[in-house]
Amino acid sequence: MSRAHNFSAGPAILPVPVLEATSKAVLDFDGSGMSIMEMSHRSKEYDAVFKEAQANCLKLMNLSAEDYTVLFLGGGASTQFIMIPMNFLKTKADYVNTGAWSKKAIKEAQWVGETNVVATSEETIFNFIPKNIKFNDDADYVHLTSNNTIYGTRFDVFPDVKAPLVSDMSSDIFSRRIDFSKFSLIYAGAQKNIGPAGVTMIVLKNEFLEGAKQDAPTMLKYKTHADKGSMFNTPPTLPVFIVNETFKWIEAQGGLDAVEEVNVRKAGLLYDYIDANSDFYVGQIKDKADRSIMNVTWNCPNADLEAKFVAEAKAKYNMTNLKGHRSVGGCRASIYNACPEDSVKALIKFMEEFKAENK
Ligand code: PMP
Repeated sequence: MSRAHNFSAGPAILPVPVLEATSKAVLDFDGSGMSIMEMSHRSKEYDAVFKEAQANCLKLMNLSAEDYTVLFLGGGASTQFIMIPMNFLKTKADYVNTGAWSKKAIKEAQWVGETNVVATSEETIFNFIPKNIKFNDDADYVHLTSNNTIYGTRFDVFPDVKAPLVSDMSSDIFSRRIDFSKFSLIYAGAQKNIGPAGVTMIVLKNEFLEGAKQDAPTMLKYKTHADKGSMFNTPPTLPVFIVNETFKWIEAQGGLDAVEEVNVRKAGLLYDYIDANSDFYVGQIKDKADRSIMNVTWNCPNADLEAKFVAEAKAKYNMTNLKGHRSVGGCRASIYNACPEDSVKALIKFMEEFKAENK
């Protein structure tokens, strides 16, 4: 099987063993004579898959089911932008604005109540992570985006806050070891690091959930889903199966520490190359601590060369999705967990070749 060097920001590359397990289960799940897609979500067999996915998630996070609940819902991470304030914004909430996704979350919270943007990097098109932020200790929660897919920034360390911490981890979930117990709510669209589009994972601290407002519509209340083991309605059955396979793959790599080690190495190779060739490639994120290890962004000397770079990478070496987000321009390589180190090395080789030909 020939594989593209896939640098898509999402939906993104998945590990080959996950694709293989999925293709088998799509035809015949475990000798049942049924596709995983043809099975009732209430069947004993499927229920075991779903519960295993929830348990594997907590295991990777080093959290216990006594303290945290895992939900797998539809609606994308974007639906969480409104569910969070509907359930938890009683008086006021603090938001850190580190990019387009944070902004969307802020806009939804404003529908519900007092939303304080306590820090922003918008004036410089989100090319850094604000530091020394003054949070309101009495906020209902603090919301931040752990990794900013479009710009290539990430929180290297998470701020210590008094209020419950809520984070959109869509684009760096399970890319590194962090102390997940610091968070009261974590959510992530699956389609970058943990599976296909169609499912969003939400991990909620039970204590936080207990204090949720209950005046939201049924489907938008976390309690509705939590009370029914995330099966209040039909869950995205195939996507959750794939997420569970991805969790198993992460474990097979040696868990989060091992995955992080590879991710740091991959990102390091690319950043080091860009930094050493700043006469042609200019990294968009200057502060090393703020640099994402998932989304690496840079500029070529001009927009024409950037377009040529993206087109040639695709035509010559089947390197896909290297165009930067339209709001920032330039180039971006998304190098999620499943992106092989060899793809990063191949990209660097092409960058050398391209520079030599176009300088
Ligand atoms: N948050 C972040 C950080 C993202 O990168 C994205 C998608 N690119 C979203 C939220 C939105 O996710 P969804 O499309 O699942 O609503």
